[in-house]
Order: sequence, then C-alpha cells, then structure tokens
Amino acid sequence: MRKMRRKGLASMAVQATEPTSAVSLGPAVALSCRECGRRFPLGPIFACQECFGPVEVAYDLPTGDPEGLKKRIEAGPANIWRYAPLLPVPADVADKPNLNPGFTKLVQADRLAAELGVTGGLYVKDDSGNPTHSFKDRVVAIAVEAARAFGFTTLSCSSTGNLAGAVGAAARRAGLKSCVFIPHDLEPGKVVMAAVYGGDLVAIDGNYDDVNRFCSELIGDPLGEGWGFVNVNLRPYYGEGSKTLAYEICEQLGWRLPDQIVIPVASGSQLTKIDKGLKELIALGLVEDRPYRIFGAQAEGCSPVSAAFKAGHEVVRPQKPNTIAKSLAIGNPADGPYVLDIARRTGGAVEDVTDPQIVEAIELLARTEGIFAETAGGVTVGVTKKLIENGVLDPSLTTVVLNTGDGLKTLDAVADGPTATIRPDLDAFRAAGLAG
Ligand SMILES: *Cc1c(COP(=O)(O)O)cnc(C)c1O
Repeated sequence: MRKMRRKGLASMAVQATEPTSAVSLGPAVALSCRECGRRFPLGPIFACQECFGPVEVAYDLPTGDPEGLKKRIEAGPANIWRYAPLLPVPADVADKPNLNPGFTKLVQADRLAAELGVTGGLYVKDDSGNPTHSFKDRVVAIAVEAARAFGFTTLSCSSTGNLAGAVGAAARRAGLKSCVFIPHDLEPGKVVMAAVYGGDLVAIDGNYDDVNRFCSELIGDPLGEGWGFVNVNLRPYYGEGSKTLAYEICEQLGWRLPDQIVIPVASGSQLTKIDKGLKELIALGLVEDRPYRIFGAQAEGCSPVSAAFKAGHEVVRPQKPNTIAKSLAIGNPADGPYVLDIARRTGGAVEDVTDPQIVEAIELLARTEGIFAETAGGVTVGVTKKLIENGVLDPSLTTVVLNTGDGLKTLDAVADGPTATIRPDLDAFRAAGLAG
C-alpha cells in the first residue's frame, strides 16, 4: 500500500458536490477513499474504483451544539444506539429487532494497576459483556443495518471465530438468513457458538487468510448474489461499529480522552476505527482536545504488524499464524499499514507477547480483577505489562486496556483446576491445609 495521506479531520467535512446515495443511513453521506479521497454513493462497495484503496464512511455530523448532543446521547439507550447520531444507521434503529450490544463496563482495575505499577489510573473496557460475548456484536449490529438498507437477504462473513457467532445471532434476530465461513481448526467453544444459532456454518480447510480469499471470490460469483459479507462488501459500515468503543470509553471517563489505549490487532480495523471515533469526539467538541497514544497488541505467533512497527517498515509482510490467540490470527491484515501510521502518529507502539505470556496475563487479570478474558484479552494485558517493563507505556498516565472477548470461548488455553480434591469430610479438608 502506498504511503497514507494524513487528511485527519478534513475527511469529515462534507464536499460541495456529494454523490447522491439511493439509501439513507442517518448522518452518513458517502463512502470516501482513504487513499485518494474520491467519494462514492453509499453502497456495498469496499474498494475505491479509481485506486483500489479501502473506502470508509463519510458523515455530515451534528456539529455546533456539543452540550445538546451530549445530553441527547446521555438520554439514549444503554447500548451502542445512544450514539446513533454518529453512526451509519437510520434514526429509528433502536426500534428494530437487533441484539443491541454495547455500553459494556469500564472497570477501574486498581489491583491490576498495583501489580503492573500503574499510578495514573488503569481501566479495563470489558467487551465480554456483549450479547455473544465478544466485541464483534458492535460491528455486526452496524453491518446488519447496512444489509437491510441494501436489500441483502443472507448475512455472511469470513471469521476467526467470534464474528461467525455474532453474525449467526444477529441474523436470527433480524430475520435474515446466514452462512458463515471459518478456518477448520478453531476452538470448540467458538465452533459451537457459531453453529448454535442455526444458520449455515462452513469450515474451510485452510487458515483465516484462505477463508477470506475464498469469500472475496464468492462475492464476485453468482453463488454469492444477495449476500452481505459483513467484513468484506459491508466492511466500511462494519468498521464504524468499533467507533462506539471510543465513544463509550470517553463518556464513561466523564467525557474525557484517556491518555493511552491498548487495543488488540487482527485485521487492524478495530484500532483504526477507535482512532477515528476519538478524532470525531474532539471535532464535535464532546471532549477536550489533548494528545492520546494508541498501542496495538499482537501475539508473537501472528505478529505481522508489530514486526513491521519494530523494523520501521511502512508495509506489513504477511505471516503464517501459529498462536493460541486464534481470534487475532490474521497473517495478512487489511488495515495493517493504517495501524502502523496511527501508532507512530500518536506516539504509541505495536508490541507482541508469546503464548505462555498470554496465558500468564489471562490468569493475572482473572486473579486481580475477577475478569476472565479470552486469549485476545491475554494479549492486551500481556502487552501492557511488557510495554510498562520496557518503559514504552507511561505508568503515570490514564490507561485503558481492551478485553474483547470472554474466557469461556477459549477454555482450552488455560489449564487451571481444583486447588485440592478431597473426600466430603472435615478431616480431609483440614488435612488439605486450606482453612483459616
Ligand atoms: C475480531 C477481534 C478483534 C479485532 O479484530 P480487528 O480485525 O483487528 O478489528 C479483537 N479481539 C477479538 C476477541 C476479536 O474477535
């Protein structure tokens, strides 16, 4: 990918001559190429027809009355639809059948902070509380609205596991059909969660990058007609769902930007859109404009972006994934170069941890805060620890760490068991030495 333009907030302004969109999705006015800036009507396209760069949603956002907007948001439902004025969704979205994810807990993690030596305030944004127990419900909810608007009847995706479950559940609730694609070697918990909602689930003999390539071919084929692939032809809309993490974190901090955020990186979409969300809050006057740093977290066994960051490269060299953090196992990440750009521009970094460090971090978070994270959460907590030890992350600043999924999804990663197994009598318990 070519070097990125840094258009920043300018991309939010409405152009004088807007391509007319046949569909209406709230404040969204067009799709805009992230590379050359060319604009297109809202539709199921994901690449610029001019330069093949990725496109993103451009808005006419409600500027001018930040206090009024804040009040409107605060009076909204306790889910992502409180931010409907900032999302590509119809104004009556909250009245439609939807899983209504979001507004998950921002946990003040004082015990973890003490263990890690963080003095400036440490928070865990815990997205395990979403309807299908991962952050993917946010992005799927937005993609469902786009699918409805474009008249798709089947919802689909290529998935590392969590997305397949989120799509299956959201499709049922919305009354759509679904057919989702996963690599053949996922964790049993994720396969069950992808299958239980009753749509079609197809395991592909290959890794995620093979699955993704297959889905791109399917879109171009009559076989895939009428299908909305949430992370392929609906990707620009899907991506916007991640902005809600930025909105929620700031609102939950009392309409304040955190100083540092640690975000897991698979395709890099989530990290990229959290940055977009933070920039929007600043532009809208909902938070005070001050510097924030964004850190990306990967597993060593699939670390194409952190490898590029450390080597000072602007391009990301694909890897063959081999890690227990399967939800992050994308060897050829679509948004990798943008992640590099954001980490460098904000003074952050991209770092990785080994599989044993991931397990250690899952146990550390569980032991200190009572939060059981899936392997992706072990990656962010582990990377946070490593970045503090390396002097990269400043422990005196307010830091938010994302947990994007529930530990029940990746039970096999941890080997914890009973402290003791005893006969049901007091003597046996006394002998175990656990009382008092
Ligand atoms: C999908 C996913 C992510 C992030 O994915 P991106 O492709 O980088 O947006 C993070 N954590 C979990 C648990 C996921 O399932």
